[in-house]
Amino acid sequence: MPDAVVRARDAADVALTMRAASERGVPVTPRGAGTGKVGGAVPARGGIVLSLDRMRAIHEIDRLDGVAVVDPGVITGELHAAAERERLFFGPDPNSWEQCTIGGNVATNASGPRSFKYGATRDWVLGLDIVTGDGTAMSIGRRTSKGVVGYDLPSLIVGSEGTLAIVTRATLRLAALPERVIAVLALLPDESAIAPAIAAAIDARVTPRSIELLDGATLDVVRGASTIPIPDAARALLVLELDGRADAVERDAIALGEAIAALSPFDVLIAQSASERERFWSVRRDMSRALRRSARFKASEDVVVPRSRIAELLARCRAISGEHGIRMPAYGHAGDGNLHVNLLWDREDQRAAVDLAIRALFEAATSLGGTLSGEHGIGLAKAPYLALALAAETRALQLRIKDAFDPRRVLNPGKIFAGDAGHRAC
Ligand SMILES: Cc1cc2nc3c(=O)[nH]c(=O)nc-3n(C[C@H](O)[C@H](O)[C@H](O)COP(=O)(O)OP(=O)(O)OC[C@H]3O[C@@H](n4cnc5c(N)ncnc54)[C@H](O)[C@@H]3O)c2cc1C
Repeated sequence: MPDAVVRARDAADVALTMRAASERGVPVTPRGAGTGKVGGAVPARGGIVLSLDRMRAIHEIDRLDGVAVVDPGVITGELHAAAERERLFFGPDPNSWEQCTIGGNVATNASGPRSFKYGATRDWVLGLDIVTGDGTAMSIGRRTSKGVVGYDLPSLIVGSEGTLAIVTRATLRLAALPERVIAVLALLPDESAIAPAIAAAIDARVTPRSIELLDGATLDVVRGASTIPIPDAARALLVLELDGRADAVERDAIALGEAIAALSPFDVLIAQSASERERFWSVRRDMSRALRRSARFKASEDVVVPRSRIAELLARCRAISGEHGIRMPAYGHAGDGNLHVNLLWDREDQRAAVDLAIRALFEAATSLGGTLSGEHGIGLAKAPYLALALAAETRALQLRIKDAFDPRRVLNPGKIFAGDAGHRAC
């Protein structure tokens, strides 16, 4: 629990709060919508929670410049809708887009299914207004699509999880709104067919915006409730989504379908209509609820590996699951090698085994050339494991950067670096 909550109305409120907190050494935890998955908005050391939820204005959508200027508390879905009204497009689509905020997205470098083609939030941030730990307000970055003047400070703030500065305004890139979206669904007999299916898309010179995966253990949970018939022997399901101009997308979808069909999957389906597409995605959406229902406790990790090594990661998950007696179905963004590995268990006395399984999972991801998080960040939950991914000299350099932005270390203490918080089930 915080000792106090400040709901800022503008950047001046934020600067005043930070100056007062810094002078007195009071911790400040910035908060958007609180949907973060690693406890980043939890005031681990008490002090002030600084909520940006009242700063919700979309100041500008400029068609010609391809730029949006927004407050940090704007809900991501509201920005999508505002851009689309101008036939423009904001790429990042975290699955929490109906609740999460742009400030939270910037702080966590959020991304979603579309990131295979459109990248993460960092790829859409041009400039930021920020308030640093000592209460200094400044504008960093640019409004133009290009610009090379000094260090790229906006990129440093993106993903810094509220530990360097508070974002009080964001200048974001917008693109042209795609005319048509088509989804292709493939049921594969073997996890080792996942990487060849992705390679087949690349060989067919098609760049899907999404390449989403459900692994065999996840299919076993959702099969009964699925609106798409899933054969018992299917060990992986891919949903690939293409977008662009209508004629080009239709051609690409057929080329992609044929390329994957050549790998002898059980089935390849192409959704032409919005309702068919919706049916494909419902398998993925319903899966989350089905997983939650299938066990008393659930924790979810979001490790990332090179996509060529997804099958190896899934094999390692099976071995870890067998060793510790914890079920570990995985799904996620296969195109980015970013898998949400779930840990499901029923008895409280299994908690120690879960912690061992989580550590083994992180060790597997890093040993395969990947890292601890593709989307959610480190926050409180993964802080104890940071050393698995960052060498001592890198951690020390990052702390020196923190000290330049936040000399009294009042901004979001206990996050990313402090290895003093246990991992919690969500
Ligand atoms: C159902 C569900 C689905 C999700 N799906 C995805 C997904 O597909 N992809 C994905 O990336 N994430 C996903 N998430 C996680 C979460 O939604 C994202 O991390 C999101 O970016 C957090 O935004 P928020 O506004 O809720 O931030 P919060 O949870 O409030 O805060 C997150 C972090 O950002 C900091 N912060 C917030 N606002 C600011 C600010 N203005 N300035 C500086 N720091 C700030 C906080 O201190 C904290 O460290 C999902 C979460 C849920 C519950």
